[in-house]
Amino acid sequence: MPKHIEPIQSVKGTRDLLPPETELWQRVEEEARRVFQAYGFREIRTPILEATALFARSVGADTDIVTKEMYTFQDRDEESLTLRPEATASVVRAYIEHRLYHEGGLHKLYYLGPMFRRDRPQKGRYRQFYQMGAEVLGSDHPAIDVETIEMLVLLLERLALQEFTLLLNSVGCPRCRPEYLKVLRRALEEVRANLCADCQRRAVTNPLRVLDCKVEADQPIIERLPRMVDYLCMECRQHLEAVKSGLQDSGVAYQDVPRLVRGLDYYTRTTFEITSGALGAQNAILGGGRYDGLSEMLGGPPAPGFGFAIGEDRLALAVKEAWEKQPIEAPRARRPLAYIAWMGDAALGAAAKLARELRRQNLSIEISYQPNKLKRALGTASKIGARFTVIIGEGELASGRYQVKDMGTGQQDEVEADPGKVAAYLHEKTAKREGSNPATGERT
Ligand code: AMP
Repeated sequence: MPKHIEPIQSVKGTRDLLPPETELWQRVEEEARRVFQAYGFREIRTPILEATALFARSVGADTDIVTKEMYTFQDRDEESLTLRPEATASVVRAYIEHRLYHEGGLHKLYYLGPMFRRDRPQKGRYRQFYQMGAEVLGSDHPAIDVETIEMLVLLLERLALQEFTLLLNSVGCPRCRPEYLKVLRRALEEVRANLCADCQRRAVTNPLRVLDCKVEADQPIIERLPRMVDYLCMECRQHLEAVKSGLQDSGVAYQDVPRLVRGLDYYTRTTFEITSGALGAQNAILGGGRYDGLSEMLGGPPAPGFGFAIGEDRLALAVKEAWEKQPIEAPRARRPLAYIAWMGDAALGAAAKLARELRRQNLSIEISYQPNKLKRALGTASKIGARFTVIIGEGELASGRYQVKDMGTGQQDEVEADPGKVAAYLHEKTAKREGSNPATGERT
């Protein structure tokens, strides 16, 4: 008796993305790359592993991410390493390390990839999740904030996403925030005992985070706390006003949310989030803001920055829902253009050659190397949704003409047994279906 072997499962909070979901993700990523590139962003790829100090210094030693959520371990040489919980710190590290600032001007960089946070898993929240983000380094002009947010809105529109809301705030700067924090701490001292356990701790370690608390019972208390907007210095106030009027000029609607502080310490001035009505409790699709002091915090020269990160898992979820409600074709399982059915050992060589040549023309071709009867092969072709079946048996080899069956109409034509001729035939047939993708015959 074989011993029972327990199957190994994926790690809690991580998941496999399977087709056809991966096809939806590809479409989302393609659209994002197109829009980012149109706005002058170029791709950067940074390592997933970074020195732990990078995040302690930038995201902030007292933030939830750094204190509770990072995957940190000692490498064999005792160095403390962390699986990145976000990528802005890495991009700024790379900007400093490669002295990109020497080139002067603006640096506009985008990235895509997995991030890791040991959060409590639930729908839309994972321990390995994916972000698509972009950073503009080298300018503190409010027009940068406006242009980047405008780009995000364009991307969401291109993805046919409806029902999203832009939330906007300013968290001030190192000149005006300390005064506000003093006032906030004082106010918190009076109400601290009535807050949830997390907020009692935050009130001391990181009072801004109290504003972000989601616990129902805390809300009426938080509503009455002092607001950062009432303590902004002149420059921060002007910056916020310029961003708002720029957004209005670009036709981008926003909501003022004085409590929006976000969970990372490096933000200055503008902070924003976009939420989607289509998602449940985890409704923030993306977030970002300005981080004018981050480069200095990481040992670099002054380099004001602005950026955002889109949660791709949540975006894909929202996009899927939106597409199901609209006349947009959600990706289905990819259908091959043709299935090659061969009968008899003598036909196998010709069939394999035909498959090879057609695939070299980027046509999507399936073939089985298992010997089959014609009826069974046609059954397989329909099951996998092939548009055509090319039939190669002894008769076809002898006559030098293959049979090509249109699986939709049942019509069958003879085509010269030459890969180029078969390719031309398939191209001609699919081109007749207006707007169809020649690689698969599917409507695009
Ligand atoms: P942040 O890096 O915290 O500013 O988050 C930016 C975006 O990443 C959020 O708006 C979410 O869409 C997404 N995100 C953050 N944490 C997670 C997570 N644990 N699982 C899935 N998405 C996440």
